[in-house]
Amino acid sequence: MITFLFDLDGVIYRDREPVPGAADTIAAFRAAGHQILFATNNATKLRAEFIERLRDVGVPATIEELATSASATAEYLRTLESPPATALVVGSDALALELTDAGIRVIDLQAVPVEQPDCVVASLDRQFTYEKLARAQLAVLGGAMLVATNRDPQFPGAHGRLWPGAGSIVAAVETASRKTAVAIGKPGPLLYKTLLEATGANQKRTIVVGDNLETDIAAAAAMNLPSVLVLTGISQREDIPASAAKPTLVVDTLTDLLTYDLERLLSSKT
Ligand SMILES: [Mg+2]
Repeated sequence: MITFLFDLDGVIYRDREPVPGAADTIAAFRAAGHQILFATNNATKLRAEFIERLRDVGVPATIEELATSASATAEYLRTLESPPATALVVGSDALALELTDAGIRVIDLQAVPVEQPDCVVASLDRQFTYEKLARAQLAVLGGAMLVATNRDPQFPGAHGRLWPGAGSIVAAVETASRKTAVAIGKPGPLLYKTLLEATGANQKRTIVVGDNLETDIAAAAAMNLPSVLVLTGISQREDIPASAAKPTLVVDTLTDLLTYDLERLLSSKT
């Protein structure tokens, strides 16, 4: 059995359109008895919403098989030696819900008097304000641990343009508090690490599949896992020479993996 750790956007679907060959390849891997896991840096939606989107493109999956940087942040905090009891969230409702589900109480920013939380979780927050930034700053200066779901500087969104990503908001909180956050999402190793540990996967038999050299392939390198760059998304072949992280294998489509010697890929030095 091999564990495959798939990215979503650019690998399995693009926006809401299926990437050709992805669903068939994953179905074939499942039929062969392999374990399929999914990991995305997107911290603005619930895991259930991604499961639904996967189902819409012909890829059935369970909640346990998928981690977002929000769910991984909650899992990371929950499994700390002394987990935080309370969190101030600069982020989405989905993130707040993941933390609540992990037994961490999300403090009310409107409550008087101001409550000092055990940790601050910074992420993409479409209702970000100076007041929220000030509250996060106050909490971190008061001793709260600072955690970030991810550091993506931008993301492609509505109107075909780039929008400010979680990283831009994390940077604001870090700058105001003069503290560096522990970041969970790719390119760091913690998103993959928490998902592999939560599912009991064998890290020695895990292959990462992604479309982004700077996130997926870099996170694989940080975990010392072999990686496959699929050219159906962000990164292209000509981007590889300039990239610090190199994929173990490059394929045009996921279908190419069906005829590849996966054991050779597993034993490749990363
Ligand atoms: Mg992607």
